Amino acid sequence: MKASLKDILIKRIEATGPITIADYMADCLMHPEHGYYTQQKVFGAEGDFITAPEVSQMFGEMLGLWLADRWYKMDKPDEVQLIELGPGRGTLMQDILRATAPVPDFHSALTVHFIETSAQLRALQAEKVPNARWHDDLSTVPEGPTLLVANEFFDALPIHQFEKLDGKWCERRVNAAADGLELVLTPASPKFALTNTALHAGPDGSVLEVCPAGLSVAGSIAERLFACGGAAIIIDYGYRKTAVGDSFQALQNHKYVDPLAAPGDADLTAHVDFEQIAAAAKSKGAASYGTAAQGAFLMALGIGERAQQLAAATDPQGQERLLSELTRLTSSDAMGTLFKVLALQDPKLPAPPGF
Ligand code: SAH
Repeated sequence: MKASLKDILIKRIEATGPITIADYMADCLMHPEHGYYTQQKVFGAEGDFITAPEVSQMFGEMLGLWLADRWYKMDKPDEVQLIELGPGRGTLMQDILRATAPVPDFHSALTVHFIETSAQLRALQAEKVPNARWHDDLSTVPEGPTLLVANEFFDALPIHQFEKLDGKWCERRVNAAADGLELVLTPASPKFALTNTALHAGPDGSVLEVCPAGLSVAGSIAERLFACGGAAIIIDYGYRKTAVGDSFQALQNHKYVDPLAAPGDADLTAHVDFEQIAAAAKSKGAASYGTAAQGAFLMALGIGERAQQLAAATDPQGQERLLSELTRLTSSDAMGTLFKVLALQDPKLPAPPGF
């Protein structure tokens, strides 16, 4: 029988010692053979979770309008790199492109770039957006005026977790136990230096998280926007301000499960720390706007009017479906306030709509 990811991890831990949560997360999500995103997993109703573009076409339509508006404010450059980080099934970009097709000259200026590490997801994306170009990271995307979108990308990037014990911050690592995997406290890695010092005074048992990969991506986006012009929109669930707390979680079949129980078979995520993301971007010269709550942002862009317009052209069943999609995306007991929107821009651009 082929080794499972759990067996592989246990062997590795026995050989080299406990691994950081970041290493654990990276393997669980992106292991070439057993990773969650490298297996043929589906998002959507049959998958483990549903993202906003899979809830409704209206989500991508609103983002398409936002991006087209930014292109106008950039003085309609005739070449634009339109980049999406972690496009999943490609639904969001498909909706963005459909919604913006009537915008004169916009499409002829665009080259679509997908940042995606999973070969399986690249294949799904190619069915929806055949003309896209694929990259492992931002470094290979040609320079030039840029529009960028990232929905539920940053929450999948590996985090480190630190816990205070006897007045000292330790790193949580994953260790091999008699019947599987367990968390242990070990000396903190140098990544602890990236945590917010304002929170270091917390009591014993406090947990602090940091996502070095997220901060580095935010910095790269900001450098690009500052050097080449453009705007980025980042949507995810998380903290408006850095907070203490354990947000490392696993979802399987729409249910929360123990993140250590089924490596590679559950989606692992952590809350995005928007305060830190914005600070990393500002330190590289970008202007930041928000966060805005997803619901308020979409309403400001006109999702209510769009729903009415679609409703007028459909039957009562379709109208009911549209109303439930709208509620799901915007109401505060669904995705409306948990999900937040952050814009990063070339500081020369005027303020974006929706904030
Ligand atoms: N944006 C999509 C999918 C979100 S799931 C949606 O809203 O439906 C996260 C996506 O990010 C997946 O496509 C996953 O393969 C990709 N991803 C995760 N970590 C990545 C990394 N380090 N580099 C590139 N892509 C990554």
